[in-house]
Amino acid sequence: MTVTSDPPTYDGAFTVDVEDYFHVSAFVSSVRPCDWGRFPCRVEASTHKLLDLAAANDTRGTFFVLGWVAEHYPQLVTEIQQAGHEVGCHSHAHQLVYELGADGFRQDLVRARDTLESIIGQPVTLYRAPSFSITSKSLWALQVLREEGFQVDSSIYPIRHDRYGIPGAPVMPHLIETPAGELAEFPGMVFEAGRTAVPVGGGGYLRLLPWMVTERLLGSVRKQGRPLNVYVHPWEVDPDQPRIACSFKSRFRHYQNLRSTMPKLQKMLKRFRLTTMSEVLTTLELPRIPSVIRSSPEAPRSTDTTAAAEVREAVS
Ligand SMILES: [Zn+2]
Repeated sequence: MTVTSDPPTYDGAFTVDVEDYFHVSAFVSSVRPCDWGRFPCRVEASTHKLLDLAAANDTRGTFFVLGWVAEHYPQLVTEIQQAGHEVGCHSHAHQLVYELGADGFRQDLVRARDTLESIIGQPVTLYRAPSFSITSKSLWALQVLREEGFQVDSSIYPIRHDRYGIPGAPVMPHLIETPAGELAEFPGMVFEAGRTAVPVGGGGYLRLLPWMVTERLLGSVRKQGRPLNVYVHPWEVDPDQPRIACSFKSRFRHYQNLRSTMPKLQKMLKRFRLTTMSEVLTTLELPRIPSVIRSSPEAPRSTDTTAAAEVREAVS
């Protein structure tokens, strides 16, 4: 008798941006990259917590590793790979893409990619920008990514935010045409309420909302027909990390509810079936979206039109 089983169905992607507490953009005014060596590193221990969590819940994920971390802790990258996870790139020095310019972006990208590939012995084809910093000011980065061999980007957050976001950009994974070829875009996760896109299920958004609210919103994202794109940082499961002096806004965004992250993730991985970004993408028929205007019965918002024009200009 032949036993057949249906292929597993997934709710979405589990992703980790592997960086330490002193790398984050919120501290850029008080911590320069040249000072990073002065801070006690905690990224190994906190990443191990996430690896243990994933193993305990039989979950694989995509780990976007900072090149700086890979250069200092190559063994950590090997451990991530050997645990069955997918290794992606989170830049080398955690600089905002729209501040680097095209040449600086390529230099930083290639350094990180080459470091990661030399460790794992495989091509690295997935990228997530520091602080989702591919915006309407840096759409040229999509072409650079494709030219440097990347197939998947997860750097565009379709929301309005002071540091990132393209309001009105597609919320569903899709293919973007660039002069160098097609790139799959797996956007930051939002819950759509009418004409408003609300970020949910990752980083500070996960820490700030009670789990019951997040659970309900993630269920709604699934009902809206989209895969989840959960993201977390190792420092978010490290509540005892050293405190860095910064503005009230940065302190709130970085330190609020750190102790809640791990219990929420445990509930998340029990409630939703998550896997690597590549695995999720293989189950989807990706639409080719020539512009970012959504096919909505409603008239596009004025900001959508602006962003759409910028996307068309930058990638055509
Ligand atoms: Zn980051």
